[in-house]
Amino acid sequence: MPLTAEGMTPAGLRAMNDAAGNGAVNRVLSVQRAGGSGSGRHSRSEGSGSGRHSRRDAPARRDPKDVMKDIKSEVDGPPLVNYGARRQGRAHEEFWMRFPRFKDGEEAEETTHETSALLFDSMKGAQERARQEEPDGGAEDANNREVQGMLINDRLVFASNFNSSVDTLVSQGRQVYGHEPSLQELLAFQQSQEGRRRGLHAYEAENLEAKLASYRRKNAAIVSGQRGAGEQGRGPDPAAKVLQAQLNSPVIVVDVEDKNLHTMLTSPKYAGRVFLLRFAQLDPRAKKQGKNRGEMKQEESVHAEQELLIALSHAGVTPGQAATKPLVIMGKYRPCMGCAAALTYYRDQMGFGNLSFDENYGHYFQGSVNSLHTHLEHIIDDDYLAHIKQMVRNDITSTPAMAHEAAPAGAGHRRRGPTLRVPGRLAARQADVTPVASDAEFDEDGTYTRVARPLQDTWTVDTAPAGIGKGTAAHQVPRRRTDKLTQDQTDQLHGLWNGGAGAGATNESRQQAIELLFNYHRSSTMSLKHLGSAVDLSENRLGTYLTRYEKEGHWTHTPQRSNKPARGAASTTTATSRKKGAVEKQFSKGRPLDRAGKDTIKAAIRGLSGNAWCADWERRHSGRSSSDLNPTKAPLDLLATLARLRRDDNYSVSEMSAYLHTGSNGDNLRKALNRKGKERLAQIEGDSGAASSAQADQYAAPAPAQADHYAASSSQADYYQAGSSSGAGYYAADSSSQAGHYGGESSATGAGYQPQVPEVPGFTLHLDPFGQAIYVEDDTGHHYILVGGRMVRFQTSVDAGDVRMSDY
Ligand SMILES: [Zn+2]
Repeated sequence: MPLTAEGMTPAGLRAMNDAAGNGAVNRVLSVQRAGGSGSGRHSRSEGSGSGRHSRRDAPARRDPKDVMKDIKSEVDGPPLVNYGARRQGRAHEEFWMRFPRFKDGEEAEETTHETSALLFDSMKGAQERARQEEPDGGAEDANNREVQGMLINDRLVFASNFNSSVDTLVSQGRQVYGHEPSLQELLAFQQSQEGRRRGLHAYEAENLEAKLASYRRKNAAIVSGQRGAGEQGRGPDPAAKVLQAQLNSPVIVVDVEDKNLHTMLTSPKYAGRVFLLRFAQLDPRAKKQGKNRGEMKQEESVHAEQELLIALSHAGVTPGQAATKPLVIMGKYRPCMGCAAALTYYRDQMGFGNLSFDENYGHYFQGSVNSLHTHLEHIIDDDYLAHIKQMVRNDITSTPAMAHEAAPAGAGHRRRGPTLRVPGRLAARQADVTPVASDAEFDEDGTYTRVARPLQDTWTVDTAPAGIGKGTAAHQVPRRRTDKLTQDQTDQLHGLWNGGAGAGATNESRQQAIELLFNYHRSSTMSLKHLGSAVDLSENRLGTYLTRYEKEGHWTHTPQRSNKPARGAASTTTATSRKKGAVEKQFSKGRPLDRAGKDTIKAAIRGLSGNAWCADWERRHSGRSSSDLNPTKAPLDLLATLARLRRDDNYSVSEMSAYLHTGSNGDNLRKALNRKGKERLAQIEGDSGAASSAQADQYAAPAPAQADHYAASSSQADYYQAGSSSGAGYYAADSSSQAGHYGGESSATGAGYQPQVPEVPGFTLHLDPFGQAIYVEDDTGHHYILVGGRMVRFQTSVDAGDVRMSDY
């Protein structure tokens, strides 16, 4: 075996052998060989590649695509469930809740975490400044969720999700200070209280602000030279030492593919410096192919800890070159499962045996693993899969308590801190690192004292704030629906909904019908299609109505008429043969356009990005142009959405018109809806027979899951116990008494009420509060709506009260 790889010191190799065994050495060497240069580089073209396969003495390596399939089947089902319709990814039904603890012995980890959290707040603050200067300027920072830092060879490297977050921060710094800014100068940018609180519950915002204030005090103690050398019971803190080393040196912005990155990460010349990473591959680029060729693609993102690993990989830093000093990767958040597995892989398989990171991982996000596959393909192998399996099967997800919350009596002790097993619904909506129990205080002379943070409250299940909510089955189990309405029931429903014997339907009769339909659907196995046919509604529409009824009860405006022809006529009817009703009646004044309506319109417009009319609207709406738009030229699918809003929500046409900038009296929009929108709407949803069967063909339903597979979930508590010797051992009480304590929540993963808008393989269906079916792409987390049988992507806005974790 050749032991002379360039850049590998004998000590480094010994460290690797000690840490990870010979396998790791082989792996590192083979990766270096595959790169051909001996530098240890493994870019995409050379990563998984031929080099390794052709080695006679290396075991055959499976195609990463096959490993990806195995990972997907590992996470697609029990014991993982979905949270927030997968916006919050997947996790276990129970979590380790981790309470504040002292991080003695992890001083560098503590400081790297706290500095990352401060830097994140500064990025947000810089974005706010940039937006004030120019509403459309700067980056769209709404989706930046994370900063992670890496301590390597006595220097600090920080990464965020988006390049633009780094760019805006640094350019604001230059503008304010008139020179290349230092880290401390950048940390002076702070987000406004309003910005910080956006989308958070009050207790979440208070928790966040308390933590940031504490981190700032600790940072001040570091900057004043009082913290970091091993004081007041703390051990030496090499991360604090870096922060102190060159207080006035500017940060260095560097691309992960920069040729000098290896030197920057390893040469003594750069010790004490602070780097901010960019990854040029993520920058917006013009599309090279397809219909919208030339159009700029959106900026892409990666999880921050992945960007740090990508930097290590591109720079060709070998384990030996990072082995003599502490190596730490810590961020504001705990790593998601995919990143935690990647970090474990770098430590255990790649030979970075001294790599320290937060092993109390958070949720699973498919998009994160996909991006590892794209950017770090060389790690997607059976060892990586084994790390995922370990996290999925032998342990459970971790979640933080709040910074002022003490663990209750009976909590166990696990991985250096008080830990309690709690139901997933109580898990935090933010995957923050476990809170630190210490704080910093200053007296009048500015002398720093290390103090314990007072824990004002003790966590109890009764007072626990709302968490992420209950998970749902990661796999939707198709239910067999065979029951039929009796003829009497059918006639009753039809009469209530459509009227009969000369009398029209009334608001009350329709409400009664909705209640009956809801109860039939929920308590029996009757399909929406079957129920819909009784009242001449498409299954999509009925599903929308029932969802809305379930969430809001009866709404003020019950739909006034069915858009679907009488029973038996479905196959021959065209849109024009439908009853139109008197125009003046259809366009009664209507109710004001509220937030929900505006959001729906905006989503429809953004979903049609690339359309010239929609681009004009964006310009007009942001004040970059002042000319009104012609509603008759609006895209048909947008007009259909407006027609639906008008019909189902009774929004005032003139208000919709004002929002669309198509004239304030709404006359032209009214014409456009009458001439085009309604017909398009009828095409989209009215022909339930033709359309939905076509859709069923187009999106062939996934094969029914095997019953056996899901039966396992009933014994999940046992499963954890059996599967995890370590996990069970840490925990104070046994799982059955635990279940009793929390009210014995069923571990059944029944999907509950699932309206039957069409399922699309590869997407998770989610109905938003307005009954709009949203398809979340499993692979990317991108949001789509189904418009006229076509999947149309749209941008979600961050301030919709929908806090996402790190599913960016
Ligand atoms: Zn991640």
